[in-house]
Amino acid sequence: MSEWEEASPSVIHIAEQLIEKYHPWLRDARIGFVFRDEAQQSLGRLILAQAQKVTAKLQVYLEFDFLIWVSKEDWEGKLTDAQREALIDHELCHCVKRLDTDTWAIRPHDVQEFWQIIERHGLWSSDLHNGREAMERAIQAELPLGQVKRAGKVASVSLKNIGDWGSLHDDLLEEARRFAEEEGEITVTKLQRKFKIAYSRASSLLNLIQTVASEPGE
Ligand SMILES: [Zn+2]
Repeated sequence: MSEWEEASPSVIHIAEQLIEKYHPWLRDARIGFVFRDEAQQSLGRLILAQAQKVTAKLQVYLEFDFLIWVSKEDWEGKLTDAQREALIDHELCHCVKRLDTDTWAIRPHDVQEFWQIIERHGLWSSDLHNGREAMERAIQAELPLGQVKRAGKVASVSLKNIGDWGSLHDDLLEEARRFAEEEGEITVTKLQRKFKIAYSRASSLLNLIQTVASEPGE
């Protein structure tokens, strides 16, 4: 299982600068950063960071609207300054306010496509063509900045709360959630069998499926 730590001040500093420059609507958001010891492996890909919405239930322990974890190993040892900035900018792009419901949400990627397809067929779909524009119009561009109250904060999740965060996280969560959707009805035993895990982990996974907001942004 992954180890969690307080994120370093360099993460907070870069995030604050990026919010002022490119994501001013996030001045109202409470964003917590946490270090994970290393990147997450997912189907052969490395995930260096992940943004997640904090649900109302979880806000009891974690007074944030979003939590973003960053791989400490990559942040401290592998990424250049420019890459660090791109990584945090990317995660912040996942964090938006929905204008229709006035709630914070995780926005999916504008473009989901294989390199080979773009190479062979160009921007063949309307998604690829208009996706970005449509998305920005719908979500952020119309948010009048006059309404931004600057009530938010960017902070490292405190040591005191990191344990709570750790207990709310499981690398199998997304897969388990998909499995639960396919199955319709999900039980601890089904999870145990599917993922070959012990009862205690399956039972805490089931609890997570029911509490933690879906669709984290990688
Ligand atoms: Zn992403």
